[in-house]
Amino acid sequence: MKNILITGGAGFIGSHICLEFLAQQKNVFIIDSFINSNKNVFHGIKKILIKENNFKESRLHIFKGDIRDTLFLSNVFFKAKQNGTPIESVIHCAGLKAVKESFINPIKYWDFNVGGSINLLKVMEKNNCRTILFSSSATVYGNSSEIPFKETLKTNPINPYGFTKVTIENILDNLFESKKNKWKVGYLRYFNPIGAHPSGLIGENSSSKPENIFPIICEVASGLRDQINIFGNDWPTSDGTCQRDYLHVVDLAKAHRMAMSFLNDSNSTKLVLNIGRGESTSVLDLIKAFEKTNKIKINYKFTNRRSGDVGISLANTEKMVEILKWKPEKSIEDMCRDGWKWQKSKLKN
Ligand code: NAD
Repeated sequence: MKNILITGGAGFIGSHICLEFLAQQKNVFIIDSFINSNKNVFHGIKKILIKENNFKESRLHIFKGDIRDTLFLSNVFFKAKQNGTPIESVIHCAGLKAVKESFINPIKYWDFNVGGSINLLKVMEKNNCRTILFSSSATVYGNSSEIPFKETLKTNPINPYGFTKVTIENILDNLFESKKNKWKVGYLRYFNPIGAHPSGLIGENSSSKPENIFPIICEVASGLRDQINIFGNDWPTSDGTCQRDYLHVVDLAKAHRMAMSFLNDSNSTKLVLNIGRGESTSVLDLIKAFEKTNKIKINYKFTNRRSGDVGISLANTEKMVEILKWKPEKSIEDMCRDGWKWQKSKLKN
C-alpha cells in the first residue's frame, strides 16, 4: 500500500498519523474542513521531515472540504487516480469529539460523525477502495464495571458522542458482513491520547475551547486560565478523582501504521483493537506529574461530577500487544514534557 487518505488529517491525532505515514514514504492525501484545526500544521510536519531529510513535496496532497460533501469526496478520489496514485486505504479521523457539545447539539454530532462516515464509505465503495481504519473511542464502553475494558465487552455508551462512535462501528460491521471477501475494516478504540510531537512543532490546536484535561492543564500552566476544575473527588478510585489510560499521541500514530500493515497483509478482515497503555492515572496524579516534569505549579479546584463522565477508563491491551506485537513506549513524563513544549511554542507564534 502506497497511497493513503487521512480524513481529519489536520487535527490533533490526524496530523501525527500524517507525519508517521509521510516518514514511511507513502503518498498521503488529507481531507479536512479545518473546522477544528489549522492549515499551519502542515508547516510543522514539513519542518520535522525536512530536518530528518525525509520530505518530498509531491507526496503530500491537501484538500480542504467536508466529508459530508459527496461531490468533493469523489473529486479527491478522482484527482488521486489522475495523479497515478489511486487511494488504496483510508484512515478516518474526521469528526466532532466534544462530549458536552454532543449533549447540547446531538443532531450536529449524528450529521458530522455518522452522516459523514456513510458518505465516505459510499464514495470508497464506488472507487473500489475497501480498506478503512476508523478512529473509535474508549467512550463506547461507557461505565462498564468490567475493568479493564476488553474488546469483547458489550458496548454501552453514555453520551451522544459515544453513540455516534458505536453506530459507525455497527455500520462497518454490517458492511464487512455484507461483502465479506471485499472489505478490510478496523476500528481502533483510543483511550486518552495526550502530549505532542517531541519537536514541539505539532500538537493539539483546537479552534474551540478545550474540554479535555491536558490542554486545560497547559492553559493553566501558561497563565491563560487561573485553575483547572476537577470534576468530582468522590469517584470510587484511589484518590477520588477520575482515572484514565493516557497514551502519547506519537505512540497512537505508530499504532495506526502497524494496524494498517496488519489490514493490508491480511485477506478480508475485521479488526477491533483498544489502543492504550493498560495503566490508569488519576487526574490528580497527572497534574502532579505535569508539575514535577515541567516545574510549574498547577492550581486546581474540585467541582461537581460532569454528566457523561465515567470513574475509570482503562484498556485491556492484550489483544493490541498480540496483534500489533507492540506496546506504547512513551511515559506520562514524556507526555507532560512534549505537550508543554508544544504549548510554549504555540504561544510564541
Ligand atoms: P480534532 O478535532 O483535532 O481532529 C478532527 C479533524 O477533523 C479536525 O481537523 C477537523 O477540522 C476535521 N473535521 C471535523 N469534521 C469534519 C468534516 N465533516 N469534514 C472534514 N473534516 C472534518 O480531533 P482529534 O483529537 O484529532 O480526534 C480525531 C478522531 O479521533 C475523532 O474522530 C475523535 O472522535 C477520535 N478520538 C479522539 C480522542 C481524543 O482524546 N482526542 C479519543 C478517542 C477518539
